[in-house]
Amino acid sequence: MYHSLNKNKFKHTLKLNKNTDTIINIGDITIGYNTKTIIGGPCTIKDFDSLDLIASKVKSSGGTILRGGAFKPRTSPHDFQGLGVDGYKIINAVSKKHGLLCVSEVTSITNLDDACKYLDILQIGTRNMQNFELLKAIGKTKKPVLLKRGFSSTLEEWLLSAEYILNKGNPNVILCERGIRTFETFTRNTLDLTIVPILKNLSHLPVFVDPSHGVGLSEYVMPMSIASIACGADGLIIETDIDPKTTISDGRQTINTNTFKEICNSIL
Ligand code: PEP
Ligand code: MN
Repeated sequence: MYHSLNKNKFKHTLKLNKNTDTIINIGDITIGYNTKTIIGGPCTIKDFDSLDLIASKVKSSGGTILRGGAFKPRTSPHDFQGLGVDGYKIINAVSKKHGLLCVSEVTSITNLDDACKYLDILQIGTRNMQNFELLKAIGKTKKPVLLKRGFSSTLEEWLLSAEYILNKGNPNVILCERGIRTFETFTRNTLDLTIVPILKNLSHLPVFVDPSHGVGLSEYVMPMSIASIACGADGLIIETDIDPKTTISDGRQTINTNTFKEICNSIL
């Protein structure tokens, strides 16, 4: 049946129980309620100098948050797994240098202290959306969290993952649609933009979209970015690099920094 959310299971995430939109303030940046926050950066951090160059482009284009993976959940154990805590230190230093905030993924409780020390926003990746112990541990911190949707997760499952974080006392959750797995294989995932207005209707939490992982093909990142904002997203997280051909991972979906600027110009 449609609209069959069991209200008792969603104590914290629904508008029913809190009718003011959640606004997250970090430094002088405000996230939520149509703020059109744009996050940009590479899938994986390579080194200080390359991230430094990308960050300067993100900043001059109007982006306010730098992304870059340090702990990479790669499908193959033979692929580069990221710089680890050194990557956190690099993104911390580079983002500060450019007056940006930073976000990077946390994959394990083991690295949570370092993540809280070096990052402004903790990303929970699609593969960890239902890592409940990690969600509970992050819930005990007050750190803002970018909670990606599991690639096979329903709206209910996703909101319940957010409940895990809020239930432990951390209200600073951003929901991020990043595409789900469907029968369609031409694109990497199917970007479920329908969920954006639905979430904005049901929940008070900010909703972001990741069109990069959503489509997996760089040439469609711009139209889907614009579409995401048009249907109500409060922000975007986009993979961008100076030269996507040399990027470490997800190069096929990574847009160059000129296209990133074009997207910012058309949205901001
Ligand atoms: C990423 O942002 O690079 C990433 C791995 O995201 P997701 O968890 O959505 O695949
Ligand atoms: Mn990626």
